[in-house]
Amino acid sequence: MAMLEVKNLEVYYGKIKALHGLTLSVEEGEIVSLIGANGAGKTTLLTSIMKQIPSVGSISFMGQDISKMATMDIVNLGMTMVPEGRRVFVRTSVEDNLLLGSYSRKDKAEVKKDLQMVYDMFPRLLERRKQLAGTLSGGEQQMLAMGRALMSRPKLLLLDEPSMGLSPKLVGQVFDTIKQINQAGTTILLVEQNANQALKIAKRGYVIETGEIMLSDDANKLLNDPKVKEAYLGG
Ligand code: ATP
Repeated sequence: MAMLEVKNLEVYYGKIKALHGLTLSVEEGEIVSLIGANGAGKTTLLTSIMKQIPSVGSISFMGQDISKMATMDIVNLGMTMVPEGRRVFVRTSVEDNLLLGSYSRKDKAEVKKDLQMVYDMFPRLLERRKQLAGTLSGGEQQMLAMGRALMSRPKLLLLDEPSMGLSPKLVGQVFDTIKQINQAGTTILLVEQNANQALKIAKRGYVIETGEIMLSDDANKLLNDPKVKEAYLGG
């Protein structure tokens, strides 16, 4: 059984159908990348999995039907999303942003250990722990958003376009960090327009076009697929 199983997911915005019965799965331990153009439905998929918007279809996580659960309960089960555009609290300190990621946890001694783990992974955040998050660069805010998500100790992390708006050097750092998070034991579903880098770090990939999965395969096969090359990898 897969860790995350999405079957026949449909999402409407008013009369507009944004997802057309989408099916996808993520196995424990994998990085799975979902690539697709602007407006293909990537954010819609992640926000509907997290139950932030209504959908029809089945979603199960760790063998449990989560399609009727509240977002907070899904987070407590072990699935957390890093939203597009990071959404850190700009007038709050770096450390308080991180602690907000753990606020529903009762195991405070373990929270302290996880804070240390996040600072070990992102030394820059430790240096800036007392600064307001709004004073961080875009790359640092992305690190903060990922660190905050890790503070909920997720088994599965959903990442929505983490490389968006970052310089090429920072993009490389963000993808290295994603690999590192995965190697430390967190399963990852990564949504990206940067298809090349996203497929390079993934085990498997899906291609989404106008709300439908058009292709799914091992990531290295997708990287060498002529159709994928032409449409998503710059020929
Ligand atoms: P992007 O990279 O721009 O975030 P995406 O692949 O994540 O693109 P979505 O944001 O999921 O795509 O959008 C899928 C479709 O649903 C698009 O046609 C978009 O215009 C539409 N859409 C998204 N959000 C809404 C909304 N709140 N109301 C109406 N239509 C929406």
